Amino acid sequence: MTDATKPAALPAGATIGILGGGQLGRMLSVAASRLGFRSHIYEPGAAPAGDVAHQVTNAPYEDEAALRAFAASVDVVTYEFENVPTSALDLLESLRPIHPNRRALAVSQDRITEKDFLSGIGLTTAPYVAVDDASGLADAVAAVGVPSILKTRRMGYDGKGQIRINDAGQSDWTDAPSVLEGFVDFSAEISVIVARGQDGQVSAFDPGLNVHREGILRTTTVPSGQPSSVLTDAVLIAARIVNALDYVGVMGVELFVTPKGLVVNEIAPRVHNSGHWTQAGCAVDQFEQHIRAVAGLPLGDGGRYADVEMTNLIGDDIDRVPALLAQPKTQIHLYGKGAPRPGRKMGHVNKVL
Ligand code: ATP
Ligand code: MG
Repeated sequence: MTDATKPAALPAGATIGILGGGQLGRMLSVAASRLGFRSHIYEPGAAPAGDVAHQVTNAPYEDEAALRAFAASVDVVTYEFENVPTSALDLLESLRPIHPNRRALAVSQDRITEKDFLSGIGLTTAPYVAVDDASGLADAVAAVGVPSILKTRRMGYDGKGQIRINDAGQSDWTDAPSVLEGFVDFSAEISVIVARGQDGQVSAFDPGLNVHREGILRTTTVPSGQPSSVLTDAVLIAARIVNALDYVGVMGVELFVTPKGLVVNEIAPRVHNSGHWTQAGCAVDQFEQHIRAVAGLPLGDGGRYADVEMTNLIGDDIDRVPALLAQPKTQIHLYGKGAPRPGRKMGHVNKVL
């Protein structure tokens, strides 16, 4: 590559603006500081990331003055949360570069747009049909069949806003524009955490095996136990997605393993819960990889040197921390959140196997 095409790397001491102040923003902020950068968190609600950031703005995404001041104080904007309102992004984008780009966000904010995009680049998704209101459900069920899953088009996470449809007469409704997805009979769920740099370099972490409980990710294990042909396909799919989006940063790509090949469940244009194992399994973890990408640095070595099982600490699981502290080969990450509530992600544990 000639110098003319090389991305300009941010200088030491530059400030990375992060939209969203949850645990992902917190771990991104720590990674930024290790690379000599500062971070500025923008978060309308409680911000555990603020504890480890240089600066925090606590304001709604509708507060134009706060957004302008935030942009003026940062060199680049990234995010840990894909549901930032379009109006806020329009304003920020007019003032500072945003990585990953707006298209990646637009694609992943809406499950229909996302599936249209994935099918458009030749990838397989679950069969799907848009359902605008309760009156359209019966036709959708007739088209997709049962069992199927009704999901809100926007704002879903941790299985929220999802209804399993088991019989054709079922009329439960999500109360929002939705998509009806055919149920995929998978043998395993895996995910690829993939990174793409500003120079187009792509680097994927070893795909992990994901196990969910009550709709929430419970564990990710590497190696995944899947044949290497499946893992290669998974990485190639992830690379195709980030190239098609001219993406910069880390993305999580969730896949179902089926006898007919890999089905893409969804993509997340950010660091991902199923990539937390990289903190204990790789020289450069997903958070550092993301900061490197958005800062215009070369991607680092994401090769896996250990077998790892990541377990989320959800709700009262936090009570296990004293026992976990005594365990060998165990790395504990706590998010500094308030009271544990059922379903609330309080931390995670990386156990080197
Ligand atoms: P997360 O925030 O954990 O990614 P989400 O709310 O975006 O969750 P999905 O990833 O769409 O939801 O679904 C959560 C889980 O539900 C999946 O990991 C999978 O276990 C199951 N699931 C979702 N869609 C399907 C499907 N079409 N067929 C079979 N299982 C599915
Ligand atoms: Mg998911």
